[in-house]
Amino acid sequence: MKFGDYECSSVELGSFAIDGGAMFGVVPKVLWEKKIPADEKNLIPMKARSLLIQGKGKNILVDTGPGNKLSEKLIKIYNLIKGSTNIDLSLSKHGLDCGDITDVIITHLHFDHTGGSTFIKDGIIEPTFPNATYYLQKDQFEAALNPGLRDVSSYMEENFMPLKEAGVLRLVEGPQELFCGIEIIVTMGHTSGQQHPLIKGEKSSLFFCADLIPTSAHLPVTWHMAYDNYPLILMEEKERLLGRALMENWILFFQHDQDVAAATVRRENNNIMCDHAVLI
Ligand SMILES: [Zn+2]
Repeated sequence: MKFGDYECSSVELGSFAIDGGAMFGVVPKVLWEKKIPADEKNLIPMKARSLLIQGKGKNILVDTGPGNKLSEKLIKIYNLIKGSTNIDLSLSKHGLDCGDITDVIITHLHFDHTGGSTFIKDGIIEPTFPNATYYLQKDQFEAALNPGLRDVSSYMEENFMPLKEAGVLRLVEGPQELFCGIEIIVTMGHTSGQQHPLIKGEKSSLFFCADLIPTSAHLPVTWHMAYDNYPLILMEEKERLLGRALMENWILFFQHDQDVAAATVRRENNNIMCDHAVLI
């Protein structure tokens, strides 16, 4: 689907399952299970979906999935489906290989968003995309180096320190137009310095929700994950950005939704909800 000068495509970089309670925090199960049914272990299915943005001579990837470096123990904990994190295979469906990626926008450094940024070659951890510059908010880099108790286990240095050591990590500060027609919006509620690309089009723009709104079921402002570091800030940010989504006719891109990759939104009474799903 085209937005401005850029063709945008969903790229699937992982399938896993995690506890429904963790995904919905204080929301009672009787409410959330109507949206996403849980299995007998209370697990709900999740995707690790990335976005490929192509145009102006660039192949930009937003986030890189969990990657292939996780231990067997973590693969079991997150019920990661083996083979679903194969970046080469996923890119080949778009006629690309890792060498074709020119830029990687990392929303934040939780492992399910950036594990695929590096890989192991001959026992050494290297950047997965040899010709790419990786963009990350400086606040998020600092949060990853000094994690709080809530998300300490989500930060794994092997996913980002090799990028710094290779000189391919560019730390950016605050909201900005990162590329012509691609605005970066920064939020602080899920974690400090999470960045969200907004790919601008004439009639509508595409907003990469990342973990601010991980699935379409998380659209209600008070429905958020137990993983969020600063819930009150997140709710304010979500309300403000959903207001902008309505005003500016955004299509929202859901990174973790099993079924709905992207959707438009509408207001009904006091609630903002999915209007219709968009194939991307
Ligand atoms: Zn996260």
